[in-house]
Amino acid sequence: MITVAEARARQQELLSDLKALVEIESPSSDKSAVDHLADFLAARLEHLGADAQIHRVSEFGNHVQADFAGVSEIKPVLLLGHTDTVWELGTLKHMPFRVDDGRVWGPGVLDMKAGIAIAMHALGLLREHNIPHAPVRMLFVSDEEVGSHSSRSITERLALESQAVLVLEPGQGLEGAVKTSRKGVGVYELKVTGVAAHAGVEPGQGASAIHELAHQIEILKSFIDFKRGLTVNAGLIKGGTRSNVVAADAWAEVDVRVKTIDDAELIDEKMHSLRAQDTRCKVEVTGGINRPPMERTEKGIALYRRAARVAESLGLKVDEQSTGGGSDGNFTAALGVPTLDGLGAVGEGAHAVHESILVDYIAPRVALLAGLIASL
Ligand SMILES: [Zn+2]
Repeated sequence: MITVAEARARQQELLSDLKALVEIESPSSDKSAVDHLADFLAARLEHLGADAQIHRVSEFGNHVQADFAGVSEIKPVLLLGHTDTVWELGTLKHMPFRVDDGRVWGPGVLDMKAGIAIAMHALGLLREHNIPHAPVRMLFVSDEEVGSHSSRSITERLALESQAVLVLEPGQGLEGAVKTSRKGVGVYELKVTGVAAHAGVEPGQGASAIHELAHQIEILKSFIDFKRGLTVNAGLIKGGTRSNVVAADAWAEVDVRVKTIDDAELIDEKMHSLRAQDTRCKVEVTGGINRPPMERTEKGIALYRRAARVAESLGLKVDEQSTGGGSDGNFTAALGVPTLDGLGAVGEGAHAVHESILVDYIAPRVALLAGLIASL
């Protein structure tokens, strides 16, 4: 067992790795930036004793896989995270890495570069103390913030070879609850085509795509069922050319969240059966559910209970929560592989200017993750 005090003794080293990770900016959209971070991380993981490899992809940044040998009769444990952030290059100028006021600040520090640093040092400690553990595989993907399109198949393949998946996304709230369920996420586009006309001279000749879209959005609202956690949000709309023209085109992008696989199928069917109310207009729907829900299953709960026992033996407490946000844990849980999410840093402000982590929670999270790995 790695104690919190032993983890704390390594905190300075962890903070210097975290500084390096944050200071290599890595927006999902900038391949060369994310690739640079992948190279740095692979070298650092090799130094910690891993066999590291880089999965090269063309459209997004490269993904890093690092395999740490362990007790060979046991199935590996997969630690899952991402190197990309939502922050554009140059953000460091106004949001520099700094340790201040009991927190570490910087772009991507919570979501989720601190999770990467925590994983590195949990493994580093297990090896330094010669604590036997299952083989550990780490996978850090480069496109999680933009839907994981190029990494999903790698994540799923490695998950299927593993006994459990531990996801290094931030814990929930300032107590760092872990996540046993996440909503599934879908994105749809509605393209409405109407008939243009002069709004003053011959309005009756036109069929407004914008008015039609307004109807459609009313229908979308009727799909919402907060009680069962099914939500629909028309987050983006566009359309028309001028106020005196009956609009020929309108468009919306819609975010859908579901708690269960059944609801995912149901809403997908409803979305694709949208039809124009005004028969002179046309409504085309594209898109679908891109992350299945991570349902709260027996396997996930068992993994949570194990983490809670490890926490207790360290003198810590860790709660369980669910969230509406998706992660790559959604994919692995949907395959039936026991998945526990939110084992990364504790803080607040993911994707916001006050993004920060609590320094006091770093060592407890390292010790918890190390203990959980050793228990598997
Ligand atoms: Zn994240």
